[in-house]
Amino acid sequence: MKIAVCPGSFDPVTNGHMDIIRRASKMFDKVIVVVLTNFAKKANFTVEKRVELLEKAVQCFDNVEVDHFNGLLADYAKIRDAKFIIKGLRAVSDFEYEFQMAMTNSKLNPELETVFLTSNSDYMYLSSSIVRQVAQLGGDIHGFVPECIREEIIKKYSQGGIKSDS
Ligand code: ADP
Repeated sequence: MKIAVCPGSFDPVTNGHMDIIRRASKMFDKVIVVVLTNFAKKANFTVEKRVELLEKAVQCFDNVEVDHFNGLLADYAKIRDAKFIIKGLRAVSDFEYEFQMAMTNSKLNPELETVFLTSNSDYMYLSSSIVRQVAQLGGDIHGFVPECIREEIIKKYSQGGIKSDS
C-alpha cells in the first residue's frame, strides 16, 4: 500500500492546498494530511480548529485522512508507515526552502521520498496568510477556501479575530 503524508500548517486550509490533496489522492492508496506545529510561524487557528476545518474539506475523498503531530515529520512518516511526502510548489521562491527540507527529511529517514507537485496556475498566488488578511479586512474569500468552511472562517473574524494557539 502506497501511503503519502501531506504536511503543512493549514492555517487555514485553502483551495491551493485542496488542489494538491486532490491530485495526491489520485496518485497514492492513502493520503494523510497532517497539521504540524511550525515554530517559525505564529498560528492563528488552533490545531484543533485547523484539523476540524480540514476534516470537513476532505470529506469527499475516500482515501484521505487528517491528523496532527507535534514533532519531526520524518518520525511521523515512520510511525504511519508512509514512504512519501507530498509538497506543493507555488513559485521559485518556495523551492529553496522545500529543497532543504526534502534533503533533511531524507537524511533523517532515508526511506522517505519527497514528491513535488507544481501549483495549479489558478492558485499560484494563494496562501493561508492571504486568506487571513482578506478575511480580517472583511473581503470576499469566495474561491480562496473550500465552500463548506468559508462561512466558518468569516464568522470567526467577524467575532473579533482568532485566538492563537502559540
Ligand atoms: P502556507 O504556505 O499557505 O502557509 P502551508 O505551510 O500550510 O501553507 O503549506 C503546506 C504545503 O502546501 C506546502 O508544500 C506548500 O508549498 C503547499 N501550498 C500552499 N499553498 C499552495 C498553493 N496555493 N498551491 C500549491 N501548493 C500550496
